[in-house]
Amino acid sequence: MSKGDTYTVEQVAEIVQGKGFFCIKEAVIKNLVIDSRTLSNVNNALFFAIKAQRNGHQFINSAYQNGIRNFVVSEDVDHTKYPETNWIKVDDVLSSLQQLAAYHRSVHQLEVIGITGSNGKTIVKEWLYQLLSTDNNVVRSPKSYNSQIGVPLSVWQINNGHNLGIFEAGISTVGEMKQLATVIQPSIGILTNIREAHDEGFKDKKEKLKEKLQLFEGVETLVYSPAHIADGVMLPGKRKFTWSFNQEADLQVLEVSTDKTNTILKAKYADKDIEATIPFTDAAAIENTVICWSTLLAMGYDAKQAAFRLAKLVKVGMRLQLINGIDNCSLIDDSYSADISSLSIALDFLNQQNQHPKRTLILSDLHETGKSANELYQEISLLLKQKKINRLIGIGEQIAAHQELFDLEKSFFNNTADFLAHVSQQSFNNETILVKGARKFGFELVVKRLAQKVHDTVLEVNLNALLSNLQFYKSKLSTGVKTMAMVKAFSYGSGSFEIANLLQYHKVDYLAVAYVDEGIALRKAGISLPIMVMSPEPSAFDAMLRYNLEPEIYSLEVLRSFLHFLPEEVTDFPIHIKLDTGMHRLGFEPQQIEELTVLLDKEKLKVVSIFTHLVATDDKQHDEFTKLQVSKYEKMYETLATSLTYRPIRHVLNTSGVSRWPNYQFDMVRVGIGLYGFDAALAEGELQTVATLKTTVSQIKQLQPNETVGYGRRGVLPNGGQIATVKIGYADGYSRSFGNGVGKMLVDGKLVPTVGSICMDMCMLDVTGIDVKVGDEVIVFNEQHRIVDLAREIHTIPYEILTNVSQRVKRVYYYE
Ligand SMILES: *Cc1c(COP(=O)(O)O)cnc(C)c1O
Repeated sequence: MSKGDTYTVEQVAEIVQGKGFFCIKEAVIKNLVIDSRTLSNVNNALFFAIKAQRNGHQFINSAYQNGIRNFVVSEDVDHTKYPETNWIKVDDVLSSLQQLAAYHRSVHQLEVIGITGSNGKTIVKEWLYQLLSTDNNVVRSPKSYNSQIGVPLSVWQINNGHNLGIFEAGISTVGEMKQLATVIQPSIGILTNIREAHDEGFKDKKEKLKEKLQLFEGVETLVYSPAHIADGVMLPGKRKFTWSFNQEADLQVLEVSTDKTNTILKAKYADKDIEATIPFTDAAAIENTVICWSTLLAMGYDAKQAAFRLAKLVKVGMRLQLINGIDNCSLIDDSYSADISSLSIALDFLNQQNQHPKRTLILSDLHETGKSANELYQEISLLLKQKKINRLIGIGEQIAAHQELFDLEKSFFNNTADFLAHVSQQSFNNETILVKGARKFGFELVVKRLAQKVHDTVLEVNLNALLSNLQFYKSKLSTGVKTMAMVKAFSYGSGSFEIANLLQYHKVDYLAVAYVDEGIALRKAGISLPIMVMSPEPSAFDAMLRYNLEPEIYSLEVLRSFLHFLPEEVTDFPIHIKLDTGMHRLGFEPQQIEELTVLLDKEKLKVVSIFTHLVATDDKQHDEFTKLQVSKYEKMYETLATSLTYRPIRHVLNTSGVSRWPNYQFDMVRVGIGLYGFDAALAEGELQTVATLKTTVSQIKQLQPNETVGYGRRGVLPNGGQIATVKIGYADGYSRSFGNGVGKMLVDGKLVPTVGSICMDMCMLDVTGIDVKVGDEVIVFNEQHRIVDLAREIHTIPYEILTNVSQRVKRVYYYE
């Protein structure tokens, strides 16, 4: 075995300069694991107990239960509790992960491209992979793994078969890049660009630039645009390759001409006129292709070869898509990348979604440099076992040839056409199906066949944005404060079990819904988190018991009838007590607390929490009232708690409360609208946009001057013009108040007004002068055309716009 192929745990201890405690010091390490839930091959896994948002040491037990026997830790652990294990004790676990990866990198001789910059890192990486993998064995970062943890895990994938690595590095504050540079050790550096956005961690643009440039300390060649460089900053790299749209550069783009689908780029390079045609038209794609173009030229490809390859670039679909499938299935479409690391990520996502009892994978042939087909499919087989996949449909001659390696319900086809021809004999029922295949297998046809036909109006939900909003609020909490996620009203219109499954996986502590039905739906979809029900109707008490749902008790009547209902044998049933401190909606008032303490049956009930709702956490004007509410709450809480022998969880804050009242976090907070991207207490841009509502054009009409549009002849174009009828109406949640020009939508990137009244299932837009045809996409709201603006137009609040989107509008979930 050659150097750097495998390591024993003893060697790893030496490399990271840790203190070893070994049972079996020859144990072989192949996989590095940082999350006890995302296990791959546990036999050769090494778990790093990293201290980040959570302390990884808390998960040692669960990693051990899952079969892991090798650990890197910084705290003292009682080894006797874990038989047959190996331990490496270090000062800082994250640093040792980076050290190990840096060592692994340094024992491999290969060309390495390192990419950093404000935008475009992942796209440039993926496009360079497309451009360079025809004549190289390339290893690259999976997805957008570019963090302090993601980079070492990416670099760890290098093996002796690779001759080219492409890795991206992302940082958020000063001091981080130095670490990543020692791990990546690039020979070619690419600075994509430097933007003002996300400047939080940096004093100014110059500081940010200097920090990013540290990645390139040792490079041979640096590819960049002079436009992104600040005066007086020293540039690393023996050789520079510059590109520009408006000044002299090695690759100077002189002309950009775009038609409907392509862009022709004319440029000057080495005193010659050269040209490339690319199948994209948007500005970001054009910039990213110019960066790739420069890199190819800098690497010595001639202009003709570079143009030939650029013409074949395809769009990078980074996102997993979760949609409704036929026969009560959920479908996860990840038919873009097909390597084992992205398979592993997709399988984890599959495992988060618990709504169906059965998990099916449709997988094409894969290819992995440096591994024989036998090794590869053996590894996949193990992975499927660990990720608890129930059924495999393999498509491709290679996977079919290795079918005996798979020990689960299985069927195989030689190609996609063969599968489609026999799909009706494959029964699908109540399953989550992951579709994953190399591009040449054309799995989009498989997705099309298995997806429920989608009504042309869809609400797209960006799950990464939702998670990043969750992290934003979690980062504001003092240690130990729990999070209750409000998922009432179909998660504010954004979905139901899909969101709850994600929140459960990412460890919120509690969920809350408005009605018992909503809670039951979550339980049926595999949600095991505790769930509070805010309006527990007596007719559903029985169901609450059966589904283990916890009622909010807000009045003496509810308490009496619940006690009356509770069967004799039940003890310690969890309830939550709501206090009214000024909202005057639901809850006990101060003068009722006495009676409440008497009535509370200490045997049968367990008061899990006592809470109140604040009426104006986002509004400075009412800050005195907010303080008054909290002091009332505290008094009432103490009276109640004294009558119990324990102290129930205290919670008062909603979204804006978390942003504005850090002193009132108590034991838990209840975050709702913030998860979905809105918080009246925050400045623009602090949260990410989660929802995009899209529809399509059904028909285009030309109008003469003064012809009218729609019911009651309320719409008129005085000078005539062009209108588009689109497939969204008030029954979809697009309020009638948006009619007659009040509302606007984005067509071909331009805002256009409605004409006439909004109908039940459709409405009309004035698209005079706009290049639009039947079937084109129309944006009702998204990141640019924001829900807050729509809300303002019709004098309401984002909550209403979002929750109004009706259930007949299909939800599609994206995950990157
Ligand atoms: C809906 C709700 C919340 C969440 O409020 P947001 O403003 O959406 O964060 C918190 N507490 C109670 C009782 C609620 O009903």
